[in-house]
Amino acid sequence: MNELLSEKQFKFTLMIAKLINYAYASGYTLTFGEAYRTPEQAALNTKSGKGIKNSLHTQRLAVDLNLFKDSKWLKNTEDHQPLGEFWEHIGGTWGGRFGDGNHYSLSHGGIK
Ligand SMILES: [Zn+2]
Repeated sequence: MNELLSEKQFKFTLMIAKLINYAYASGYTLTFGEAYRTPEQAALNTKSGKGIKNSLHTQRLAVDLNLFKDSKWLKNTEDHQPLGEFWEHIGGTWGGRFGDGNHYSLSHGGIK
C-alpha cells in the first residue's frame, strides 16, 4: 500500500525533530541546509550534475543538515555517521550510503 504523500511528509518532519534532538543530546549542533527544492531548481541541478530531477527535496521528504561540534563545521560524510545510523534506526534513508552525508530523507515511490 502506498502511504499518502501528505502523511509521509508529516511523518518525515516529526522524524527530523527526533534526529535534531538526538544530535543535540549527543553534543552536536545543526543548521539547516537545503530543505524544500522547487522542481525548476531540481531540473537545473540535474543539468549541472548536482542532483536528480525527481529529488525527494521536491516532495518535502528530504533535508540537508549542516553539522557542527565545538563550533567546528563537520563536512565529511563520515562525520555524519552517528546521526545517519540513528536516522536509519528510526526508518529514514541516510545519504551517506550514496556519498551524500548531510542528506536525510524518507524514501517514497522507490526514490531515495
Ligand atoms: Zn539533499
